[in-house]
Amino acid sequence: MTTERNIVTGLARIGTVLRAEQWAQSDAVGLTPTQAQILVQLDTRGPARIGDVAAELAVTQPTASDAVAALVRKRLVEKRPDPKDARAVRLHPTRTGRRRAKAMAVWPDALLEAVDSLDPCEQAVFLKGLTKMVRALQTRQAIPVQRMCATCQYFRPNVHDDPAAPHHCAFVDAAFGDANLRLDCADHETTSETDAAANWQTFVSAL
Ligand code: SF4
Repeated sequence: MTTERNIVTGLARIGTVLRAEQWAQSDAVGLTPTQAQILVQLDTRGPARIGDVAAELAVTQPTASDAVAALVRKRLVEKRPDPKDARAVRLHPTRTGRRRAKAMAVWPDALLEAVDSLDPCEQAVFLKGLTKMVRALQTRQAIPVQRMCATCQYFRPNVHDDPAAPHHCAFVDAAFGDANLRLDCADHETTSETDAAANWQTFVSAL
């Protein structure tokens, strides 16, 4: 078996843990996994249109619509007019919905402990490798654009001499290292494709 296949097999095993946890968490609060994902997404990222919700979860619009309809029936989500477009609506989690989302937005202890078993150097290398994989999947449009450093207008890769903290985040005006690369950052602002490509070259050139 090739190294590539071994890595994908390992990722599939990790995916199994995540899926099992997702099913257990959503089942415990009477939701399907898709309904749970939408509720958590609206709670963590704020109100959104149905099309954006579907794109983010990489599901079809009818699938997202069915899940949202169920969430509305359960009074966990409500539709309100979009202030930017009078003909459109945005989905908002209700107070009960937010409480329910917070109860589910936790990572499995077993997985956190497994990550903790890596030393800091291994964690940094692993995170950098994951960043490259997520970026590759994004470029192939296999997943939606992620709120990651690699596509952020505040990201300045490899601008500092310190090997422990070579990158700079212009949003918080601070240096950081590979161990703190973000894959889902609330402060992310998407940069242009040209700048993202240039940043990426600078980022990978130091590997
Ligand atoms: S704002 Fe977030 S995503 Fe952007 S560079 Fe800073 S840490 Fe990375």
